[in-house]
Amino acid sequence: MTCTETSALANWGNYPKTRATLSYPETPGEARQAVLQHARIIARGNGKCYGDAALGATVLSTLRLNRLLNWDAANGIVHAEAGVLLADLLDRIVPDGWFFEVTPGIKNITVGGAIASDVHGKNHPAKGCFSQHLLDFDLLRADGETVACSRTENPGLFWQTCGGMGWTGVILSARFRLMRISSVYMRQTAVRAPRLDALFEAFDAHRHLPYAAGWVDCLSAGDAFGRGVVYFAEHDTTPSPLQYPHKDTRNVPFYAPAALLNALTIRAHNHMLFSAAKTGEQRVDLDRYFYPLDRIRNWNRLYGRRGFIQYQFCLPEAASPDGIRKVLETIRKSRDLPFLSVLKRHGERPVEAIHSFPERGYSLALDFPRTKTVFGLVNQLDELVWQLGGKIYLTKDACSAARMGRVDPAAFGEPKFHSLLKERLLQDK
Ligand SMILES: Cc1cc2nc3c(=O)[nH]c(=O)nc-3n(C[C@H](O)[C@H](O)[C@H](O)COP(=O)(O)OP(=O)(O)OC[C@H]3O[C@@H](n4cnc5c(N)ncnc54)[C@H](O)[C@@H]3O)c2cc1C
Repeated sequence: MTCTETSALANWGNYPKTRATLSYPETPGEARQAVLQHARIIARGNGKCYGDAALGATVLSTLRLNRLLNWDAANGIVHAEAGVLLADLLDRIVPDGWFFEVTPGIKNITVGGAIASDVHGKNHPAKGCFSQHLLDFDLLRADGETVACSRTENPGLFWQTCGGMGWTGVILSARFRLMRISSVYMRQTAVRAPRLDALFEAFDAHRHLPYAAGWVDCLSAGDAFGRGVVYFAEHDTTPSPLQYPHKDTRNVPFYAPAALLNALTIRAHNHMLFSAAKTGEQRVDLDRYFYPLDRIRNWNRLYGRRGFIQYQFCLPEAASPDGIRKVLETIRKSRDLPFLSVLKRHGERPVEAIHSFPERGYSLALDFPRTKTVFGLVNQLDELVWQLGGKIYLTKDACSAARMGRVDPAAFGEPKFHSLLKERLLQDK
């Protein structure tokens, strides 16, 4: 039976916070009732987007629509309800020798969330976004009808929904393909780059390796400006026992004081990340390579109760080295310093994947504590990224200008599916 509650709600960045009435349907029929009952509603998976996407006055949580409908271990095809977590699938698929073709840097997200943000991983040039491996899904529409969507059946709605941030309806279930693995290990090569141009050279020199993600020291100056470490990897092909290597997690039990992350502590943290990085080749397990942040539960509390903003932008390839230099220079002149950063290389966006975030080039994700001044910095970064022909990732967005996502919510024609993100973008147009 559908359970309903009213409570305070936020996504991973803990900003913004809102009060919402949440319903938790357990069956597609109950989801239909919830959609018909409310003039406005938005689907929510596990709330691991950062900003205001999965928030609204009325929210439909899919967390109880979480049945694995079929697991075809011979062909590596998952059929799951939208609320199934990728983390839960790992225990089922890895022992049978399969892994996700595309996974974001977090495993506690739902299948519905992976589709609605069209998530990407560290292997975008090789494997694209989640939609590339998606076979079909059932979509609950505003009139209560369920529509089957695939590349051949309702293809327009299929592509509108991938990366469509929940604005086309509620994804009820989906089928997607996996990739074969014979080991739970990755062969990782870490490269320490003493300057920004060396970081880009490292990405270029290791194009043959399918996975890559880098960290940039956004506070380094002089000859070390833009230094960082890139972690490249490929799947190890030497067979190993196929148990998913769950790691012990640590917890951040309380919200940290706002002053914890300051120039001094961030500098010390960056120094440690750069000098302690173990360079060269080593064998690391899937959990350590793909989901390092999942090992600290509630790490978002390190930013304190005021929360944080993640600013993830993507620039065209030719504009990337100089553009990212300009972004780092802008940040260095501001009072707002990012604690975490992730640099990724991206391949071509398929033309039909109209709402996918990554474009051929590079993206940089930056986590800033939410201060009074950070919104001014975001305005400046928006202007710069826009001038350089870039865009931002809507699933991380909490305060960018409406144009920056390069997606128009008004074009979705479904007023019922309404989030805070949609409202903000429509108001800002
Ligand atoms: C530590 C961390 C690392 C991350 N790394 C990456 C990364 O490497 N690559 C990447 O692409 N993303 C990354 N993300 C972002 C995350 O993968 C996406 O925001 C994802 O959509 C979250 O899934 P969720 O189930 O929590 O969905 P939510 O956060 O609840 O919702 C996200 C969006 O999907 C919509 N939605 C959810 N379920 C449905 C449904 N059933 N039907 C219709 N719409 C729905 C919501 O309305 C919302 O617009 C990361 C997030 C974190 C916290």
